[in-house]
Amino acid sequence: MTDDCIFCKIAHGEMPADTVYQDERVTAFRDVSPQAKTHVLVIPNKHFDSLNDACSDKSDLLAHALKICALVARDEGIDERGYRVLTNVGDEGGQSVPHLHFHVLGGQELTTKLA
Ligand code: 5GP
Ligand code: ZN
Repeated sequence: MTDDCIFCKIAHGEMPADTVYQDERVTAFRDVSPQAKTHVLVIPNKHFDSLNDACSDKSDLLAHALKICALVARDEGIDERGYRVLTNVGDEGGQSVPHLHFHVLGGQELTTKLA
């Protein structure tokens, strides 16, 4: 838990969120400012600044987080139609909240294709 981190507070139930899934390692909740019909954030409960901070020795946690992204997509009914999972890293990557999170986006055609 990092003081003043909003996503740490959400993961620890100290700040309200529309949570769709939680276990001992990750929490998934709806984005407060959705960029698609379905927009859920999947975060590790433990604080990591970004993927940079979590890539060493955290393979199990990262694999679990991605698995939960797929589970959320299935629960939201968008797995067959298709969806996007992404994580922004740092300033040029467009990261605005410095707690690692995966965006799960779908429920509509996602037009911007950067990669
Ligand atoms: P980033 O820009 O860091 O990749 O994504 C951060 C996301 O967190 C944004 O899509 C933003 O709307 C969302 N967000 C920021 N603050 C809150 C909050 O307090 N609650 C929820 N549910 N989402 C938030
Ligand atoms: Zn945090």
